[in-house]
Amino acid sequence: MTVEQILAELVSIDSVSARSNAEIISYLEARCEALSFRVKRFPHTDETGAEKINLVALQITSQAEAYATVELALIGHTDTVPYDPTWTEALKLTESDGKLYGRGACDTKAFIAATLTAIESIDLKRLKKPLALVFTADEEIGCLGAKRLADARPFSARYAIVGEPTSLHPMRAGKGYCLAEITVRGQEAHSAYPQLGASAIFRAARLVNRIEEIAEDLKSDARAEFDPPYTTLNVGLIEGGTAKNIVAGECRFTLEWRTIPGQESDYVLSLVKRAVDELQALYPDFRCELVAARADESFETGADSPLVHFLEEASNKLSSTVAFGTEAPSMIALGADAVVFGPGDIRVAHRTGEFVPIGQLNESASILREAIEHFCR
Ligand SMILES: [Zn+2]
Repeated sequence: MTVEQILAELVSIDSVSARSNAEIISYLEARCEALSFRVKRFPHTDETGAEKINLVALQITSQAEAYATVELALIGHTDTVPYDPTWTEALKLTESDGKLYGRGACDTKAFIAATLTAIESIDLKRLKKPLALVFTADEEIGCLGAKRLADARPFSARYAIVGEPTSLHPMRAGKGYCLAEITVRGQEAHSAYPQLGASAIFRAARLVNRIEEIAEDLKSDARAEFDPPYTTLNVGLIEGGTAKNIVAGECRFTLEWRTIPGQESDYVLSLVKRAVDELQALYPDFRCELVAARADESFETGADSPLVHFLEEASNKLSSTVAFGTEAPSMIALGADAVVFGPGDIRVAHRTGEFVPIGQLNESASILREAIEHFCR
């Protein structure tokens, strides 16, 4: 089968994150078993009751190596974002102008099709070091499958290529993504008698001001390879009060921050907590709750890693940094040098009419084949 035919089969299996991914996992499992990979499912039931499965397929040279350290892991997520019902060909791979269209054609079934093509074109018996293929669930809703797998520690890996549309640019580092919900409390009162209450909105405004100052201060901790080169903060949502003539009793807002590597994900949270303490010292009845809702770590693989060197040479492109969340931190948690790499452009992913250029699809299949031969032989 050609890489395009495999991609067509993958796209035809509806695997939006809201559904179970059991069907696409069964497909991948069968293909891997046909090549004598040792496969293992890591199933669980998600909060909607749907079965979600991570699949690990190992090519090992001896029983002793099972679930020990693999030399190279290739990771592709099986889920896709939803598609608009008016996109009638979302599940039917269609070619036009050298591009292949379909939901997931770019993100990230193209990488998976390239991976399957790579392993089917290699004499696997000649590999001396273990290779792992990892197919995950629920990447699009917070890299949940990869995080579970990292917790389960089914193997450790020396090198990992994380499939995502990067237009075949090796991405060796990425910012973290964190979120907190902040609730500031006051005391309701008739707005004609504000002295009888305390405005949660005025109080929240003071804290938001402090957060803006923290964002300003963080600019001095810069990493040139990122754009922008520092940790960024955003207060994206704010909500408070119940009526124009009531002193607001409560005000809630979200704080999001994207950390540069080298900065712990909860560093910003500790700065905000310090600002809250200072406000409490100034205004003894200042009351505030902080709930950390998400903390995806940043990641970085050294520019001198053999994996970075290999992918730079094979793609003929210099490595850079990635601006969106990926499964790379989970692979780093499993001990790997991780690089994000794959065909297609992230800017066309997640939209109606996402596509992968056929040229990049074929090129990625041969680069992945070379990678397996380079690292596992
Ligand atoms: Zn993706």
